[in-house]
Formats: sequence, C-alpha cells, structure tokens
Amino acid sequence: MPPDLLIVRTLIVQFFVLRDGESLYLIDTGFIGGKRALHAALLVRGWDALPIRGILLTHGHLDHVRNAPALAARHGAWIAGPERDLEHYEGRACYSGLGRVAGVAEWVGRRLLRQPAFRPDRLLNDGDEIPVWDGLRVVALPGHTHGHCGYYSARHRLLFSGDLFATFGLGPQIAPAYLNQDNAEARRSIHRALELPLEGVLPCHANQAAPALQLEYLRALATP
Ligand SMILES: [Zn+2]
Repeated sequence: MPPDLLIVRTLIVQFFVLRDGESLYLIDTGFIGGKRALHAALLVRGWDALPIRGILLTHGHLDHVRNAPALAARHGAWIAGPERDLEHYEGRACYSGLGRVAGVAEWVGRRLLRQPAFRPDRLLNDGDEIPVWDGLRVVALPGHTHGHCGYYSARHRLLFSGDLFATFGLGPQIAPAYLNQDNAEARRSIHRALELPLEGVLPCHANQAAPALQLEYLRALATP
C-alpha cells in the first residue's frame, strides 16, 4: 500500500485519504460514523494536523457523499464529483426499473438524515485530470449511477473504483441490479476499467485484501 494513502474503514463502506505534500485529499466521505472514523484514522497516522484541501466523489450515493458538505465546510475544502451525478448531490435523482429500490432507500435516507443538497465546486467528466497525488485521471465507469467514475493514478497503476464492484460480505460481486441505474452499462464499465494498465484496484465496499488481490477479483468477475 502506498505510504501516502490511508484507508478509512467503517461498517459498510470505506473511503480514502491521499497525502500530497502537506495537504490531504479525500476520495469519498463515507456514511454514518465516517467523520469520527476519519478523525481517528488521521490521529493514528499522525496526519491530524494536515489540512484537508479537497474532496473527490466517485458518485452521488448517500453512503459516499454523506459527510462531504460538512467536511468541506469545516475544512474549507473544495468538492469535485462527476457532472452526470448532479441530480444525486441535489437530491432529485430518478431511478427506473429495479433501480427504483435504491431510489426509495436514498429518498428515505436523505430525509431521515436531513442530508443537505449541495453542488460540487467542480463538476468532472471522463478524462479530466486532477492535479493531486502526481495526477489522478477521472475514468467514467457509468452504470451503478449514470455519472459513476473511478480515479486512476498512473504513478501507482491504481484505480479507486468506487462501486464498480464490491468484495465484502458474500465475496466479490457486481452491485445487484436493484442498486444500479443501468446494469448493462455497469458490466461494460468493468471491461473499460480493465483496459487500464493496473496493478491494483480499491473498491469502496471491500474486504481487507490488498489492491492487487482486489484486481484479481475484478478480473474474475469480468470473465464469463
Ligand atoms: Zn453506490
């Protein structure tokens, strides 16, 4: 694992802290308990005095963006996320077919948690380059949501793969149909991800296996 990477684990989802010089950047922000877990993880790593300057979002689901507005406000950090998930950040996403199950869960969760609508400071599209961590490239991996993306580090040949697939609980799996906005597209995105020169991937719903093994799981899912 790169020494300038910290994984913040919570019960159902994990997210990532990247250290770039004396600044920190987050990829996703977790769900309930995420802020406390972040604080604890930063203390253990000795990074707690470093400023969080930016937050990158893989998609607009509540278990990834829950803490983004509060953390951005507290740290004066910018938020960047895929443009095609704007409807999610703004709490007006539409789901069709089986995906309506996720839509209802989001609707209920947002109201129970009084999730504020927000608009990222920067809206991202496929191929955009983020000048963080020696460069992160936005890789559109749609299907789970229309805007769902990964962040690719060429330096580490590492892909932060969001919810492209998951490896916790029942083992490696593609997100079930009722959690995706477009299932066929989600499957195509797995092949798109595997076209990158990769040594590892880091999903957000994952067991504790190293990125190289997560990549093996993904390759196995792609083989019929
Ligand atoms: Zn999701």
